[in-house]
Amino acid sequence: MPRKFFVGGNWKMNGDKKSIDGICDFLKKGPLDKNVEIVVGVPSVYLEYAKSKVPAGVLCAAQNCYKEPKGAFTGEISPEMLKDIGIEWVILGHSERRNVFGETDELIAEKCKHALDTGLKVILCCGEKLEEREAGKTEEVVVRQLTACAKKIKDWTHVVVAYEPVWAIGTGKTATPAQAQEVHAQIRNWMKEKINPGVADNTRILYGGSVTADNCRDLAKQPDVDGSLVGGASLKPDFVKIVNAAK
Ligand code: PEP
Repeated sequence: MPRKFFVGGNWKMNGDKKSIDGICDFLKKGPLDKNVEIVVGVPSVYLEYAKSKVPAGVLCAAQNCYKEPKGAFTGEISPEMLKDIGIEWVILGHSERRNVFGETDELIAEKCKHALDTGLKVILCCGEKLEEREAGKTEEVVVRQLTACAKKIKDWTHVVVAYEPVWAIGTGKTATPAQAQEVHAQIRNWMKEKINPGVADNTRILYGGSVTADNCRDLAKQPDVDGSLVGGASLKPDFVKIVNAAK
């Protein structure tokens, strides 16, 4: 079976009810390619509001969750709470969680395990910093991040991987299609060798990092690029063009 094209939006810590209404208006207007799986990452306080407003065919994801079901973890939300309000997806391991909030590979792996065990689907982000790329360590870093999770993930059916080079996130500096393809192929090859060929064939690998309406089509043409994870541009009507990039 071919891998279904997947486009995620990551609203990060942006927006209010009024701007969410605006985003939902352009999503409703679309038209959105029906063959694309579309999931938008919403600040947790607005999840129920956004869920009630997005058009059919667009799902909402949390941008984070904790590794425990409940307890003395002030400020955190659990996968169980997300399930309780009807949320199906969560973004984990985003570079801002790793680099601004100091989340380790091990913590992200534990979060992945608990989210999947609870029945959530996970967009699992990985990616290298500029100095790591310049030191020739891109593959090593991405494999290290994914290996930590692979030790805890038994079933990859509900995992989508997002390769997001840190130097490309929010910088306007997109990886070239060839750079994205190279790392996506390395990830797929790692899956084939270290997990199994079925997981390598079936798991969607998204590219994220300054994806725009102008560069989305060339990225989408790469054989191992199965969609994108979009930050800034997911707040604008251009997001519709990015959703439709594979058409
Ligand atoms: C992101 O937040 O995951 C992201 C890729 O951001 P941007 O598209 O703004 O670079």
